[in-house]
Amino acid sequence: MRIQKLSAQAALASLRSGQAGLAAAEVERRLRGFGRNILEPVRRRPVVERFLRSFTHFFAVLLWLAAALALVAEGYEPGGGMGVLAVAIVAVIVINGLFSFWQDYKAERELASLARLLPQRVKVVRHGALAVCDATDIVPGDVIQLAEGDRVPADARVIDAQSLRINAAPVTGEAEAVFRDADPTDETDPLQASNLVLAGTSVVAGEGRAVVYATGAHTEFGRIAKLTQGDDRERSPLLAEIARVSRIIGVLAVVAGIALAALGLRAGLPPWQALVFGIGIIVANVPEGLLPTVTLALAIGARRMARRNVLIRHLPAVETLGSATVICTDKTGTLTLNRMRVKATQGPVNALAAVERHCHTLKRSDHGWLGDPMEVALVEHAGPGPLYPQVGEVPFDTERKRLSTLHSTPQGPVIYTKGAVETVLPLCSHCAEDTGAVFLDEDRRAAFLRKQEDMANRGLRVLALAWRRNPDADDPERGLTLAGLVGLEDPPRPEVPDAIAKARGAGIRVIMITGDHPHTALAIAREIGMVEGLEPEIVTGDRLRVMSEAHLMLALDAEDILFARIGADQKLRVVQALQRRGEIVAVTGDGVNDAPALKQGDIGIAMGLSGTDVAREAADMVLLDDNFASIVSAVEEGRAVFANIRKFMTYILASNVPELVPYLAFGLFGVPLPLTVIQILAVDLGTDMLPALALGAEPAHGGAMTMPPRSRRQGLLTAGLILRAYLLLGSFEAIAAMSGYFAVLSAGGWQWGQGLGRADPLYLQATTACLAAIVVAQAVNVFLCRREREPILDRTLPGNPRLWWAVAVEIGLILLIVYTPIGNRLFGTAPLPAWAWAAGVPAVAAMVVADEIRKRLARHDER
Ligand code: ADP
Ligand code: MG
Repeated sequence: MRIQKLSAQAALASLRSGQAGLAAAEVERRLRGFGRNILEPVRRRPVVERFLRSFTHFFAVLLWLAAALALVAEGYEPGGGMGVLAVAIVAVIVINGLFSFWQDYKAERELASLARLLPQRVKVVRHGALAVCDATDIVPGDVIQLAEGDRVPADARVIDAQSLRINAAPVTGEAEAVFRDADPTDETDPLQASNLVLAGTSVVAGEGRAVVYATGAHTEFGRIAKLTQGDDRERSPLLAEIARVSRIIGVLAVVAGIALAALGLRAGLPPWQALVFGIGIIVANVPEGLLPTVTLALAIGARRMARRNVLIRHLPAVETLGSATVICTDKTGTLTLNRMRVKATQGPVNALAAVERHCHTLKRSDHGWLGDPMEVALVEHAGPGPLYPQVGEVPFDTERKRLSTLHSTPQGPVIYTKGAVETVLPLCSHCAEDTGAVFLDEDRRAAFLRKQEDMANRGLRVLALAWRRNPDADDPERGLTLAGLVGLEDPPRPEVPDAIAKARGAGIRVIMITGDHPHTALAIAREIGMVEGLEPEIVTGDRLRVMSEAHLMLALDAEDILFARIGADQKLRVVQALQRRGEIVAVTGDGVNDAPALKQGDIGIAMGLSGTDVAREAADMVLLDDNFASIVSAVEEGRAVFANIRKFMTYILASNVPELVPYLAFGLFGVPLPLTVIQILAVDLGTDMLPALALGAEPAHGGAMTMPPRSRRQGLLTAGLILRAYLLLGSFEAIAAMSGYFAVLSAGGWQWGQGLGRADPLYLQATTACLAAIVVAQAVNVFLCRREREPILDRTLPGNPRLWWAVAVEIGLILLIVYTPIGNRLFGTAPLPAWAWAAGVPAVAAMVVADEIRKRLARHDER
């Protein structure tokens, strides 16, 4: 028997449930029987396939080819060292593949575990009482309560509905919202049945109750999900940029490789060796470690943001947030505490209380009222009194800005209405006075409007309350009697003024977009320091509706601007206009109608406490504490991530120069090759790795929020970065490397122009000195790369213990390479006397001094 053909009562009975829901023990039993209400996460690709991929991507293929060629060369000249090189390259592929796979896997797991911080909550009737539980604990037979903005947690049959409308797009693909009610239907397709609500869909409007009949993988969504969920990882601007940078460096590396192989040929290398030599160069210069290091930097950023109550849903949003130029924010709950209290009233107390007590959408649970804090404040303000059952409702939305509820009383039906003054006052024909209702003439209307202005100017949110006995059946919100006005105080969050100042210092505009009255909005904006000028531009929804695109763009030029009485559908327009001006827009939202704006914004930010499931799904990140100040902290972390990526790029690129120069010396001047390919690999994929990762984990520092946001056009790889890495840092490192090499050679009595055998102990020791100098230079360079502008000894900057560990490991590695027999065999090295370590020191010291001078000049330029 299909559940949609049964009556609501029979549907409940068929699931052995009832209006009162299930008992706790029964829920336990069913949880064991049916399992939890979760979809097994569909892996984008099988783990094995992704694992294999990390050994078969473009750069890895290049490496395989190099290894094969090295083997062939070994065949031509057995014992020439090429066989060892082949083995080394394969080892590099394996280590690198394992490393990037592990990084990716870890980042993914981390994101998934962060997502678990934010469970979906469901209102469920159990044992006759309304309770809230995790969506995963829903079982067949549970009676769930659905309201606007809720995601439907499981497949369920509606048993009671008030203008319930569902967005079924995730399941059916149809964007149009559809009505759902409790009447039986003959429709056999569950996707079309008018009394079923399916997991994955969401409530657009209205409310209702439904009894769950399928959970987890047994839902329609569970079945479809398996078929349709593909690769949902978006290509963010940052990842695209990294790919571009990697390609550029890759191409440069290939060009350098070919050129150097040609040089080698000219210098008299046998062709096979020249080829392998060229490929070795390519391999050494390809930025292999870059992508996993970037993933790690983003993941660390996401983890730090979580600590600051910001949950990242898409990893690249971490960095996008750092480039935000505008934050569009809600007022209520985000800038304010959403802790409402009635502060002022106008009108007879009894009349106000009657309306306050009835006109709301709150639900009573075991732990007090569930719902909008403003309505809770009003109910509590009203105090106890007679309560009539609700029989109907005209729901609130941001367009109407009012709510009406219909109640049956012994004297007949009564409608109670509350909402924004300008939407309620026109519906009223009378107003209440202590002596009884009187006609609401123009003078009285004007007096109420003045009173509203008064309260709004104090920052209070003003509501008009009204009622009518025996209202019209088809137009109940008419001919109402105004009970009066209430002014509610909602104090700003204490940390918000500082956050606003910080955002301003960081060159980020903060724009309030609220549904509240313009004067209330302005009073709050002034209180938190968001508006400082005397004449802010205030755009109301009514004005916005008649503004042309050009008008809006011009209005956005104003120093201070705020949007009030804005409907949620208008938020989208504001976001689009800002984007057309070239801004990178972060936008907050909580309601269903906010979803388009959240999607359109460069970074959509949803609310964790008060928001709806729909808004959270549309957003890139979620504010766990709904607090504006958390956005600003997250911007700081986002900026730090971008800065960190630049830091380790500088670091990684700098060591390419001392690796190339030995080959130039060899090809151009016939100097015996000062650094072998294997030794290059020892640096790029050995000693450099941990310090680069440590730079990716640098903590944010205050300086990040004193500069304007980086421009959209500024990529990662700027001319400044390249010049600093290659010309400044790299050159000195190359000098250090060559100093080490020649110092050992000349101490051994070598003369310019003299040849050296590949196994000559003096030659082995000289290349070792070259390698050691590079590693020492990089161990110092990592401290220079920590800062682009601040001096190396700036004590105000936060420390980074990882960095010290990384350097310790780096030094440990080079000592192993230089002083252990196995290190000597693998890397073609020989133990160095202590003085050989010092040969590169003057150049390294010069590098520090030169970079400090550059930093000072850079700081000077800024001023
Ligand atoms: P905000 O941006 O401050 O959250 P909303 O769009 O939620 O504003 O609300 C806009 C206006 O609608 C409020 O200023 C108030 O006048 C009215 N309003 C808000 N919530 C309710 C409600 N539950 N019942 C009646 N009116 C409401
Ligand atoms: Mg609101």
